[in-house]
Parts: sequence; structure tokens; C-alpha cells
Amino acid sequence: MAPFDLLLLGPPGAGKGTQGARLVQRLGLPKLATGDLLRDAVARGTALGQAARAVMEAGGLVSDDLILGIVREELDRPTAAAGAILDGVVRTLPQAEGLAKLLAERGRQLSHVVFLDVTDEEILGRIARRRTEESRADDAPEAVARRLKAYRDQTAPVLAWYETHGRVHRIPGLGTMDQISERIRQAIGR
Ligand code: AMP
Repeated sequence: MAPFDLLLLGPPGAGKGTQGARLVQRLGLPKLATGDLLRDAVARGTALGQAARAVMEAGGLVSDDLILGIVREELDRPTAAAGAILDGVVRTLPQAEGLAKLLAERGRQLSHVVFLDVTDEEILGRIARRRTEESRADDAPEAVARRLKAYRDQTAPVLAWYETHGRVHRIPGLGTMDQISERIRQAIGR
């Protein structure tokens, strides 16, 4: 069977992490989440973590080269041979192009792009809730404002890019986690 690679797109706080974890469970594929990998690198104090820490805490975007380096390494893991759930991996146009190239070099391409569509109001509410639960440095109000700006300036054009290059499933992100999972299941047909 061809590898199954699914990309999750959406603003910060859209529920990519939650829905990504559910897809991982249901489809039995590994998760490739650059945010998680970067947080882990920061916690372990690796060279990658040291390079990314300040940018992340301020709510900015880590460089395309660092991100594509992580993605290359993850795609080459034997566990990712059958595909992966890519969460937050593409946030700029060069990353979209770079990922397409990395996949093509491995005879792969994205099977699905799932966009979680939520309003700004909902995002701010969710991040405020997460702040009380997880204490992520970048959930502080100033960092959230920067993350939303980075999303609007750099990641929103990525959605348009995927829309011209293939089919994007636009999933209304409002409702319960189960309702949203069910919408995704119907959209991707598995
Ligand atoms: P996330 O957990 O996906 O919200 O990511 C947390 C932070 O990690 C982001 O705010 C960025 O600073 C950084 N990050 C994660 N993925 C990327 C990416 N694809 N491009 C640039 N920065 C990223």
C-alpha cells in the first residue's frame, strides 16, 4: 500500500494537536509534530533546542532550514515508512515546497491536507484554557498575539497554495472533539 501522509493545517489553538493524536490512534501512524519535537529539543538543551528556544518563546517561527532538517530526519525513520500524521509542520511557503520535494524524493506525496477552520474568538478562548492546563511559555498573551500574526502573515498563504495544488478538506473546527474527528473521518474516508 502507498504511504499515507496527512497534513494538518490551522491556526494556533485550532485543535491540530488533539485531532492529530486521535488520527495517530485510529490510523496507527506515527505523529510528526515539529512543535512537539522542538519543545523536546528545548527541554533537553540540544543544539536544535538552543537555536529554537528564544524564537519559540516569543511566538515567532523557527527557520525553514531547521524545520526541513527535522522533517527530513523524521521521514527517514523506519517507523514513518507507511506514512505519518504531520501536525504544524508546514507554516511557510518554502516549507510547503520543501516538504513536497522531500516527499517526492521518497516516492511519496501528501494523501490529504486537512484544514481546521476556527474563528479568532474561539482560538483565544482555547489558548486561554490551555494556559491554565499546560503552562506553555508561548501561550502567554504577547506570544499568542505574535503567533496569530505569524499565522496570518505566513501560514494563511500556505492554505491557498495547497488549495491550488490539490484538494484541501476544510473542516469546521467548532463542536466537540468527537464531532470534529467524525468530520475528518468522513472527509478522508478512513
Ligand atoms: P506548535 O506546538 O505547533 O504550536 O509549535 C510551537 C512553536 O514551535 C511555534 O510557535 C513555532 O515557534 C515553532 N514551530 C513549530 N513548527 C514550526 C514550523 N513548521 N515552522 C516554524 N516554526 C515552527
